[in-house]
Amino acid sequence: MKAATDVLAAVELLAGQYPEADTELHYANPFELLVATILSAQATDAGVNRVTPALFAKYPDARALAAAPREDVEALVHPTGFFRQKTRALMGMAQALVDSHAGEVPRTMEALVKLPGVGRKTANVVLGHALGVPGLPVDRHVLRVSNRLGIANSEDPERVEQQLTGALPPGLWTRASDTLILHGRRVCKTEPLCDQCAAAALCDFRRRAVRPAPAKKIRSRSRGPSGRKATKKRGVRKRS
Ligand code: SF4
Repeated sequence: MKAATDVLAAVELLAGQYPEADTELHYANPFELLVATILSAQATDAGVNRVTPALFAKYPDARALAAAPREDVEALVHPTGFFRQKTRALMGMAQALVDSHAGEVPRTMEALVKLPGVGRKTANVVLGHALGVPGLPVDRHVLRVSNRLGIANSEDPERVEQQLTGALPPGLWTRASDTLILHGRRVCKTEPLCDQCAAAALCDFRRRAVRPAPAKKIRSRSRGPSGRKATKKRGVRKRS
C-alpha cells in the first residue's frame, strides 16, 4: 500500500479532476439526508431524488415520520425498491430519534449506528455532509478505486475507511469519498478508462496493466565439456 504522501497526492489529483464532487442526494437538513441515504441502498441517487420531495413535504421531521401511516410511507418510497424494508428502517429510525434524541439527528458515529437502518456508510454520509463532522463513507466505488490505485488494500469497507482516514487529513475525508465515488462512476468503472484518469501515473493497477511482457527466453542447447552441443542419448530399443 502507498505511503500517506502518495495517498494524498492521488486523492488531490482526482479532486482536481472533479471540483464539483459532492453527494448527489437532495436534502435541506440532516434529517432529510439521513432519510435519503437510507433510501439510496440499492437505488440510484436520481431515483431517490424523485421520491423525496413528496415524502419530505408530508413528513418533514422525525415526529411526523414516526407517526405516519405505514402504507402511505410504503407507497411513497415504493419506486426506490425494497420498499417494505426501507419503510421499516425509516420509521424505526424516526421513532428512535424521537425516543432518544429529542427528534434530532445525533452528531456522533456511535449514536448514529445505533439507529435502525443506519450503518457506518450512512452515518459517515450524514456526518460529513450535513453535520460538519469529518466522515469518509466507503461504498463499492471507493473500494474499487482505492484498491486499484493502491491507496488501500482490503475489500472490507471498515478497513478501507481506516486506511484512508489514517493517511488523509480529516478536513479532506468527505471530499475524498465524494471524489472517489464520482471517479468510480465516470472513469474507473468495471472496465476503467485509464486514459481519462488524472491519477493514472500513480495507479498500481495501471502500472501492472501496461508493464511490458517479459521477453521470451531463448533456450540454448547445453554444450558438453568439449564445447560441442550435447546430443541426447537415445535408448536402444531391444528388438524382441
Ligand atoms: S488509472 Fe485506471 S484503474 Fe487506475 S484509478 Fe485511474 S481509471 Fe482507475
